[in-house]
Amino acid sequence: MTHPSTQADVVIVGAGQAGGEVASALRQQGFTGSVVLLGDEPYVPYRRPPLSKAFLSGEATLESLFIKAQTVYEKLNIECRFGVGVESLDRAARRLRLYDGTTLDYGKLVLATGGRPRKLSLPGADHPNVHYVRTIADILKLKEQFGAGKKLVIVGGGYIGLEAASVGIKKGLEVTVVEALPRVLARVTAPEISAFYERVHKSRGVKLYTGVGVHSLEGDPLVTGVTLADNTLVPADIVIVGIGLIPNVELADMAGIEVSNGGIVVDRYAQTSDPDIYAAGDCTFHENVFFDRRMRLESVPNAMEQGRIVAAAIVGKPVAYSAVPWFWSDQYELKLQMVGLSQGYDQLVVRGSLDSESFSAFYLKDGVVISADAINRPQEFMVAKKLVADRIKVDAAQLADESVVLKSLLAA
Ligand SMILES: Cc1cc2nc3c(=O)[nH]c(=O)nc-3n(C[C@H](O)[C@H](O)[C@H](O)COP(=O)(O)OP(=O)(O)OC[C@H]3O[C@@H](n4cnc5c(N)ncnc54)[C@H](O)[C@@H]3O)c2cc1C
Repeated sequence: MTHPSTQADVVIVGAGQAGGEVASALRQQGFTGSVVLLGDEPYVPYRRPPLSKAFLSGEATLESLFIKAQTVYEKLNIECRFGVGVESLDRAARRLRLYDGTTLDYGKLVLATGGRPRKLSLPGADHPNVHYVRTIADILKLKEQFGAGKKLVIVGGGYIGLEAASVGIKKGLEVTVVEALPRVLARVTAPEISAFYERVHKSRGVKLYTGVGVHSLEGDPLVTGVTLADNTLVPADIVIVGIGLIPNVELADMAGIEVSNGGIVVDRYAQTSDPDIYAAGDCTFHENVFFDRRMRLESVPNAMEQGRIVAAAIVGKPVAYSAVPWFWSDQYELKLQMVGLSQGYDQLVVRGSLDSESFSAFYLKDGVVISADAINRPQEFMVAKKLVADRIKVDAAQLADESVVLKSLLAA
């Protein structure tokens, strides 16, 4: 066995979607120096979206999650070190200290440390039947308990909670979702779309509580029930908590790298406040030229694109980050694809019927399409991406009229 390197031209911390993409993009873009890809999970970079979808339901295998086999990275001459975390960063010495006691020196450093689930801060939140949905390890543990007939209580009506609910129903569990805000998906979508998803989940058998938080978890050593703020007791065999993500910024923060709005601050070229250190993915508060502002995003397309932006900067051919965000969610037979940022919209135009399970909703601001949600309409989604990217001003009546070919509005 060859010994792990003690120094490398580029060290990537975090072997997730973004870290893996930085490594392979560096080679694609012609980088010939030494590269170490290092992560604390014991796996080659993998896709997280199936964790709350096909991997939880058992339709996808563990192997199918891996983005590339380890041999592919090795053929690219990327040194892989998985199952070991970075404890601290000494910028003056350009040195990382690892939890296994070793050190690793870098020329350029990439932080792609993602995030961790926000925990429920209540007694009982660490009982063995309370679960989070972020890693393969989380799902392997959850799957041991995820059986037909079990009472599953999901805290949080965001994407992850609702996707888990849909898998729970599919697998024959009795599912309850508790959302503290007045509606599900409140932070990401219009009230009309939230209402649509609430109807869908209820029609499939989910019991839904909105506008009420969790007061306490009952039972010891296992949670047997969840008491809501209005004193309703919901019996539980399993609890899933999906209440958001905390970006892993501590390594950067402790080393004095600028952190703001919960993320590692990077410029349009993915560079941090230290010119030798870049960051990509969920952990960043990044500048997007398209919107002319900084933002934090949690999505695969963002992690991948930022990974490529980092590689471009390191090889000396910097490209400014200007991608329009997009995302998807699978629940039951519904594929939701969304593009853009809907904040600040002043009109919602629906193409198709909200009472059906196939329609698109367009968010307009001063007549310009700034965002869209397409439900089971992949072709319209492709056009919606262009409408948003090109900031097309549309006629709302035409947009809503299904006899008007959507593509024809691109020329408007
Ligand atoms: C259940 C689930 C479903 C999702 N569904 C979708 C979806 O449908 N569509 C979509 O676009 N996005 C989805 N996402 C979001 C998407 O997966 C993330 O945005 C993406 O994984 C972010 O990639 P990343 O590389 O920034 O972070 P991660 O993939 O989280 O990778 C970061 C890695 O760094 C490691 N790390 C952290 N600190 C250290 C350290 N100090 N030393 C070593 N290693 C460290 C972490 O353990 C982790 O392995 C989903 C996420 C989850 C959890």
